[in-house]
Amino acid sequence: MTIRFGPAGLGPIKTAVQTLEKYHQLGFKACEISFTHGPYIKKEEDMKLIKETAEKLNISLSIHAQYWINLNSKEPEKVEASKKRILNCCEIGEKLGAKRVVFHPGYYSDMTPEEAYKNISKSVKDLQQSIKKENWKIKISAETMGKVNVFGSTDQISNLVNETGCDFCIDFAHILARDKSVDYDKVKQLFPQSTWHVHFSGIVYGEKGEKHHKTTLKEEWKTLLANLPKDKEITIINESPTMIDDTIEGLELSKKL
Ligand SMILES: [Zn+2]
Repeated sequence: MTIRFGPAGLGPIKTAVQTLEKYHQLGFKACEISFTHGPYIKKEEDMKLIKETAEKLNISLSIHAQYWINLNSKEPEKVEASKKRILNCCEIGEKLGAKRVVFHPGYYSDMTPEEAYKNISKSVKDLQQSIKKENWKIKISAETMGKVNVFGSTDQISNLVNETGCDFCIDFAHILARDKSVDYDKVKQLFPQSTWHVHFSGIVYGEKGEKHHKTTLKEEWKTLLANLPKDKEITIINESPTMIDDTIEGLELSKKL
């Protein structure tokens, strides 16, 4: 089983090279750059240096797009702005040599899940077309979401992938928070693809789903690692508040499998 482990953050640009070197020393082979509050890498020279350093150190990069995205807003201009944000992440991600842009597809906005699905899949198709037109290699990965009243169940994301050809991010903490348990067999059936991009951490949740991420317990790592398919290329991005230590622990546990 090939698993790349990495944290959900690169930190400031001025220390990016040192950070990647530190990750490499720790055995990390992935890093998700957080553009959740907006893309902060703006200069071409910075993008080039980060790309080259990551490639040299065999660290696979991904981007997390802005939190403020809703491909199912009632206001068309907000949908357009959301698409622009994702494409902006793609443009920068392409220059960084990142493989994918992970995004939260959207909200129900008082619509039925079926209507939301229709609108979101239409927007994702538009995005796929724009990416193709630009000749970018980067993929957009719709994430499974942790709140009950938000678009992004495993079924919805799987349908979206099958219909639009977009990529996906399986957030196992979100699945637990949303469904109150993780049906690993179902997830494997819904996502038969040979490459999985995974988010993982401990999570605090209630009736309505996700409240916030927390430190990953050793037992939680063990359960995840025991249940992951053995025949895929998997990247696990840890999103806990203690993501570096958690990633080290996950990596160490995976060596004992
Ligand atoms: Zn996310």
